[in-house]
Amino acid sequence: MLRTGLGRDLHRLVKGRRFLLAGVELPAQRGELAHSDGDVLAHAVCDAILGAAALGDIGSLFPPPDPAWKDADSMALLRSVFGMAKQSGWTLVNLDCVVCCEEPKVAPFRDSIRQSLAQALEVSVDRIFVKGKTGEGLGPVGKGRAVEALAVCLLEKE
Ligand SMILES: [Zn+2]
Repeated sequence: MLRTGLGRDLHRLVKGRRFLLAGVELPAQRGELAHSDGDVLAHAVCDAILGAAALGDIGSLFPPPDPAWKDADSMALLRSVFGMAKQSGWTLVNLDCVVCCEEPKVAPFRDSIRQSLAQALEVSVDRIFVKGKTGEGLGPVGKGRAVEALAVCLLEKE
């Protein structure tokens, strides 16, 4: 059986916060504002996997008001989400992601981000891809006030 999943997330960008994509810190003037560490890509990937496996969504599994998730390591959340999917018999066929922000540029960090995701999802790096896009100066992403991530995955079960 094959199942697709889609995830999307957005965080405000503010000064004094780290800019994290799948656990990789990119040098940037502003970082993601969130109750957790704000890792927008990790969150989108969590929702893609949870959606494909019909196991819930990140907001219900890790509710933001819960103090347990304050400054939470989102890659630990992703590993726990993938563990749940694995327990239901799912493995990852592939994952494709888009990160939208004006800065920093994602491309120089693409391979580190792919490696980090491949490690968390227990697959080889050739099954993971990540692209960076800008907002063309339009909307909150284009004005540099937010970063958005989209993820689509394919899960397989015997
Ligand atoms: Zn988020």
